[in-house]
Amino acid sequence: MSQLSRRKFLLTLSASAASSVLLKGCLGNPPEPTNSSSSTPAVAPVSLSPETTPETNTIKLGYLPIVEAAAMVIAKEKGFFAKYGMTNVDVSKQASWGAARDNVEIGSAGGGIDGGQWQMPMPYLISEGLITKNNVKLPMYVLAQLNTQGNGIAIANIHKGKNISLDLNAARDYIIGLSSTGTPFTLAYTFPKVNQDFWVRYWLAAGGIDPDNDVSLITVPAAQTVANMKTGTMDGFSTGDPWPDRIAKDGIGFLAALTADIWPCHPEEYLAIRADWVDKNPKATKALLKGLMEAQQWCDRAENHGELASILSTANYFNVPSSVVEGAFSGNYKLGDNLAPISERTKATLYWKDEKGSVSYPYKSHDLWFLTESVRWGFLPPETLTNAKQLIDQVNREDIWKEAAREAGISESDIPTNTSRGVERFFDGKVFDPANPQAYLDSLSIKRI
Ligand code: CA
Repeated sequence: MSQLSRRKFLLTLSASAASSVLLKGCLGNPPEPTNSSSSTPAVAPVSLSPETTPETNTIKLGYLPIVEAAAMVIAKEKGFFAKYGMTNVDVSKQASWGAARDNVEIGSAGGGIDGGQWQMPMPYLISEGLITKNNVKLPMYVLAQLNTQGNGIAIANIHKGKNISLDLNAARDYIIGLSSTGTPFTLAYTFPKVNQDFWVRYWLAAGGIDPDNDVSLITVPAAQTVANMKTGTMDGFSTGDPWPDRIAKDGIGFLAALTADIWPCHPEEYLAIRADWVDKNPKATKALLKGLMEAQQWCDRAENHGELASILSTANYFNVPSSVVEGAFSGNYKLGDNLAPISERTKATLYWKDEKGSVSYPYKSHDLWFLTESVRWGFLPPETLTNAKQLIDQVNREDIWKEAAREAGISESDIPTNTSRGVERFFDGKVFDPANPQAYLDSLSIKRI
């Protein structure tokens, strides 16, 4: 079968398999098995007890077209949400992070969303009313981590041959020198004061470049990054795959650094939902989590990567060639300005497990890093750290994750016993000990405090 016809076949199959689950799931009958060996069969619904029957089968979850969204998309398309009674989950594309934030403020009742995919610490900033209209507090719960890694920093071709790589020390003079020409080195992220901004800031500062004074940082929606790089309005950007890798594949630029190299097994994006929705629908929340966990395990299995890339690449989702998406799942990248091919599964986007253990479980210690890094750059006041435990205990609902995992029959060895993952190590030798965030801040030379 040719690549094209195989892809078409898989798409048709997965669409019909998903609708079969939905239809049959509603009628209480098991779905018909599919007759394909190249695709996993549609999943049968579990029999629901009064304790596990969701209060509602309906929710609207927002997503951005980057690999972080993969498990939510798969949970819907492969019937994992439906398996646990969530037969009417709308996984809804958001034009930008700002649009996702606006839509969650509205809620699904008003045509918005109930929750979905978030960069960190967006659920905290929304809960505290720091990025909402009129600073209204909208409590959110962080329920699961969606993925680790799968992000990178792409640099335009005009900067080839300038030693711009993971370690920027050798490129420092060149990059800082551009600021005196009137056109400073300009880097973009997809929303200010969250993951992508942090990755690019960490990378620059580790190379002795002050992100606030030596370069220009701007916000660009992920889907517009390729166009902006082509027109030269930016020199680099930090975002989720497939966009950095697409830049390299399209010959517009190169991948200077993977976030997997900046901080191996780092926290990336999260599932968070409005607290009012979760409090009203605790069983539906656990049903969603069970579906998500199963989808995350599915996404990590190499034999599913072809189908995963096919589903994500469709016009409904990312609308890019499947070949552009697939590398992120296997760790196949062309890295550096000499486009050296690498194929390292440990550097891939991972959804369920990584070398450090659980990816899906939302560690409170990671939320603390995002708050600490917010203090580092002056995005949040230093007192944030004094009150961090109380704030994290309000927003991070790892307890619900654990309940859902046990109900789903997840092995105890895959359920973390500590809300801290312990000491974290970065590529430049810095260490973040969640028991002493101040020591981490003290160890950093470039900061705004
Ligand atoms: Ca990301």
